[in-house]
Amino acid sequence: MCRCGDMDKQEELIKIAEEVKKCRKCSLWQGAIQSVPGEGSFDAEVVFVGEAPGFHEDQRGIPFCGAAGKLLDKLLALAKLRRDEVFITNVLKHRPPGNRDPLPSEIEACRPFLDRQIGIIEPKIIATLGRFSMAKFLPNVLISQVHGQPRFVQRGERELIVVPMYHPAAALRNGKIMVAEQEDFMKLGKFLEKLNGGEEVEVEKEKEKEEQLKLI
Ligand code: URA
Repeated sequence: MCRCGDMDKQEELIKIAEEVKKCRKCSLWQGAIQSVPGEGSFDAEVVFVGEAPGFHEDQRGIPFCGAAGKLLDKLLALAKLRRDEVFITNVLKHRPPGNRDPLPSEIEACRPFLDRQIGIIEPKIIATLGRFSMAKFLPNVLISQVHGQPRFVQRGERELIVVPMYHPAAALRNGKIMVAEQEDFMKLGKFLEKLNGGEEVEVEKEKEKEEQLKLI
């Protein structure tokens, strides 16, 4: 748990971004123009976690600033959220060559940065975008079966609420996923409203491993 004040939180996030810039724990930095540590509010109630920077993100150093990012902005509006009041980051902080899938070794090398960002911000909700970020919190589930459904996930002493979402790029490719994605973001907004209003919310506990395996 972060016991720091607002100023410290901001400074800590800046420190992480500086470390990300210099990180050589995997080889991705070699093919990237720059790092993309993430951006948004240190005070965010929701942290969105995507997969990895793509072409545009690598050019600008900003997460989700290409076509998927433009859609994400519209989806955020459906949840009554603005980009500057959430925090947006990725599992990987440097672009994989040709936007290939992240390797397990790269995810592991980058893991402490994301864990620290979450630990500092202490969001009410972590919304995962796509399967690579979902797998970090909810291994062995199928996105088609759990998208939009909040889950309690135990991480050490902390119980996190994780809402798995489809990746916006998947929604751009598939009309049915686009409909589901829009519904899920609207649901996310209502869920957050209830949470903030002190109303009772329905959240499933993370399933035991054996139960999860039955889903595959
Ligand atoms: N896709 C991602 O997963 N992250 C980005 O930042 C951009 C596209």
